[in-house]
Amino acid sequence: MPAATPLPENARMPVPENTGMQGDKTEMADTAPVELSSELTCPECGHKKTEEMPTDACTYFYECENCKTLLKPNKGNCCVFCSFGSVPCPPVQKDGKGSC
Ligand SMILES: [Zn+2]
Repeated sequence: MPAATPLPENARMPVPENTGMQGDKTEMADTAPVELSSELTCPECGHKKTEEMPTDACTYFYECENCKTLLKPNKGNCCVFCSFGSVPCPPVQKDGKGSC
């Protein structure tokens, strides 16, 4: 018998409650879940960095850690996440453009 028996892929994670019992937790009422991390892409150097977004404030200035450019939102955007992020800021996700 070998020391470590390799497990088949599908035997590693038993699926406890994938079917059926999903009504236990509070289902999302009428709001979609808000994504709180956004991947910012620097328009100057293309550097990408995933940042956590505050839910109660807008991030107006953001310094690129690679080229040290101070990013500011594009005209019409409320924060750098709306301009350069892969995901817009939480208020915009919830209520649409221009709501923060
Ligand atoms: Zn940069």
